Amino acid sequence: MPDSHDRSLPSPENTHFKSVDVDVVVVGAGFAGLFMLHRLRGLGLTARAFETGDGVGGTWYWNRYPGARCDVESMQYSYQFSDDLQQDWSWSEKFAAQPEILTYAEHVADRFDLRRDIQLESRVAAAHWDDATGIWSASVEHDGRTSTVTSKFLILCVGCLSAANRPSFAGFERFQGSHYHTGYWPKDPVDFTGLKVGIIGTGSSGIQTIPHVAEQAGHLTVFQRTPNYVVPDWNGPLDPAYEAEIKADYQDLRSNAKTRPSGIWVPFNTDSALDASDEERQRRFEEFWGYGGLGFMGSFGDLLTNADSNRLAADFVRGKIAEIVSDPDVARKLTPDNVLGCKRLCVHATYYQTFNRDDVSLVDLRTEGAIEHFTETGLVVGGVEYPLDAVIFATGFDAMTGSFEKIAISGVEGQTLKQKWEAGPSTYLGFQSAGFPNMFMVTGPGSPSVLSNVLLSIEQNIEWITGCLGTLLQKGQSRIEPEIDAEEAWVEEVNRAAGGSLRSTCSSWYNGANIPGKPLVFIPYIGGIPDYTKACDAAVENGYAGFKMR
Ligand code: NAP
Repeated sequence: MPDSHDRSLPSPENTHFKSVDVDVVVVGAGFAGLFMLHRLRGLGLTARAFETGDGVGGTWYWNRYPGARCDVESMQYSYQFSDDLQQDWSWSEKFAAQPEILTYAEHVADRFDLRRDIQLESRVAAAHWDDATGIWSASVEHDGRTSTVTSKFLILCVGCLSAANRPSFAGFERFQGSHYHTGYWPKDPVDFTGLKVGIIGTGSSGIQTIPHVAEQAGHLTVFQRTPNYVVPDWNGPLDPAYEAEIKADYQDLRSNAKTRPSGIWVPFNTDSALDASDEERQRRFEEFWGYGGLGFMGSFGDLLTNADSNRLAADFVRGKIAEIVSDPDVARKLTPDNVLGCKRLCVHATYYQTFNRDDVSLVDLRTEGAIEHFTETGLVVGGVEYPLDAVIFATGFDAMTGSFEKIAISGVEGQTLKQKWEAGPSTYLGFQSAGFPNMFMVTGPGSPSVLSNVLLSIEQNIEWITGCLGTLLQKGQSRIEPEIDAEEAWVEEVNRAAGGSLRSTCSSWYNGANIPGKPLVFIPYIGGIPDYTKACDAAVENGYAGFKMR
């Protein structure tokens, strides 16, 4: 972090924010909102976070579906801003499950006394910038009433995957069974014992849900549109020796992780899959399959840049599917034909084995026809009715932009964010969008966010925003927004980086293809953590180049 990131100033008395309710309105109390509040206090600013849920935790509050688990190692998917915190906290498993991650978020809220500045069950429905006064007015819905809260800054900590996508299916309103969305799972456990359950969607959420529901349901029918590649995680209890080794020099792990494009420290080779002999390639794929998790992509350095290398790795995983799934017809349906890792790689140790159960069946929507409509008692595909007592939508999110656009945000001259982003999101470094002064986004479009260990990205973003606010206030200035030229150049850089990756070659939520009508642009920055951090730090070193401060 460059020296100009001064967090010690100013004192609240020095600020010119007397006419507002709080200096900063923070939207969301997930991992980003919690840490943002903590840093704002350090700046001496008053802040209030508004959270729709009745608890903190954001993504990990809402996504409490059975089997929900993080596929970044817990020792890395955790805050690093407090050494005491990272030393004191002990994870029970290598990859923590949702309840433990939520407990961790709650612990952080308590440990840093953050709750007194968080208002739960309060949804920010709109936010309006008044250019004459330089004040944001947020409309907050709470307990059936809407109130207005004014602030100098608006910081959106709304998450990348928090606007659920529930496709509209004909006749759904007639369906008499129960229904759920993985992204809005009820707080009370759902009992599927003996029921005929259907699940629509086989992305990361569906893939984690399916084996758990299969254990309980009388019969589970999986409605799959696109098969995904699933690699095992080999999860288990966290090895105390491994934990002790990391804690002896946690900084080493954290620093190493920042040198990786993903911000995740896992074994990673740089050589090409094409340069290895057949035996060496097979040995390497087996080794990385055995290592487990997203790290499989590190078996060779060019799996996401060279289509031929990717095909070799994809063939290896396809071979595993054929080995694991006993019915060749089911195995064929489960076998993806697209680029490995183009849609996000999924992680689960027993997903494919689940399809060897007699009480699980697979409906391939690509060959048997799309879901035609719901009836009172089930749904129809290719003229066949599948009777269901309950249906689970694991249909994902309006990713990265949906969580911002569901708030009616208007900036200079009343322009709405939705209007500005009609042809695709436009930000400078993911932090700000021109025409929306004093509004910051954490892990916004144009930042690595979802392509990285998002907790690392959250912290990097928040440290940067904190440094920026500190500098602004130290200079006695009160307004910041990007130069339009800098923003356009960054959007170009985001597109350039995407063009160099095979990840931009398929339909996915990374490029908006999962939402009908959404502009098809690659939304996150795929240039990696090191290059992104360099760009953020360079802006600071050059006096916040690309930003207008006054
Ligand atoms: P997703 O990856 O977008 O998957 C949605 C699924 O629903 C896809 O299989 C999609 O099929 C299907 N679908 C959507 N609309 C449909 C329709 N009209 N008819 C039939 N099928 C339809 O969403 P997700 O599984 O919730 O995952 C989103 C992201 O959240 C992940 O990629 C990951 O980044 C994150 N996540 C992470 C973890 C973890 O850490 N382990 C766990 C869960 C989620 P198509 O592919 O054909 O569109």
